[in-house]
Amino acid sequence: MTDVVIVGGGPAGLTAALFAQKNGLESTVLDTDGTWMHKAHLFNYPGIGSIDGSAYMETLREQVDSFGVDRRQGTKATGVEETDDGFHVATDGDAVEGRYLVLATGANRDLAESLGCAFDGDVVDVDVTMETSVDGAYATGAMVRIEEWQAVISAGDGAAAALNILSKEKGEHYHDFDVPSDAEAVFGGMADEA
Ligand SMILES: Cc1cc2nc3c(=O)[nH]c(=O)nc-3n(C[C@H](O)[C@H](O)[C@H](O)COP(=O)(O)OP(=O)(O)OC[C@H]3O[C@@H](n4cnc5c(N)ncnc54)[C@H](O)[C@@H]3O)c2cc1C
Repeated sequence: MTDVVIVGGGPAGLTAALFAQKNGLESTVLDTDGTWMHKAHLFNYPGIGSIDGSAYMETLREQVDSFGVDRRQGTKATGVEETDDGFHVATDGDAVEGRYLVLATGANRDLAESLGCAFDGDVVDVDVTMETSVDGAYATGAMVRIEEWQAVISAGDGAAAALNILSKEKGEHYHDFDVPSDAEAVFGGMADEA
């Protein structure tokens, strides 16, 4: 049993994993590496002038790995159901159980449908926290949008989902705010170069 099971390792799923794991929730990501980012070149990701989509994914994967996310590349989630204390996710390998579920499967909405999440037309119905109609289950990124598919929006959805999970866990609204002295504590005099 982990804290958060995330299905999909594109910008949405890995950003959810980053925020959750960085703030103390054990996170497992299942991903089949079909992210559209492998077809993209980003000129529109704020703070980054120009980056190949696969290079962006490599950096993001290294970032989540550095915080200790259990990233299971090449593992496909084949089914998901609610349990008494969370969710059971069947895969083509070992099953995973988690107290929270984040779906981040791009434009594929099959798992959300089989879980019984409400839809708004063709897309999964979520509020601004990205929570679905199923308590503790979140849907993020391309699966909650008819079009308007952008990497930064998916990443933002993943962050919103993780922060809402953290707020539930801590019983108050939660921010992941760091300040320069945090970087100095980690990197010392190398903070600006790191
Ligand atoms: C040609 C092209 C160019 C683009 N150019 C840009 C651009 O310039 N700027 C920009 O912002 N956006 C661009 N995009 C869009 C951008 O790639 C998407 O908005 C973004 O990748 C969506 O992120 P996501 O995390 O929601 O889904 P995805 O990136 O699609 O990730 C979903 C992941 O879930 C995995 N998955 C699905 N089902 C399962 C399952 N059952 N079990 C395990 N894993 C599963 C998939 O394999 C995939 O890795 C472009 C897209 C394309 C196709």
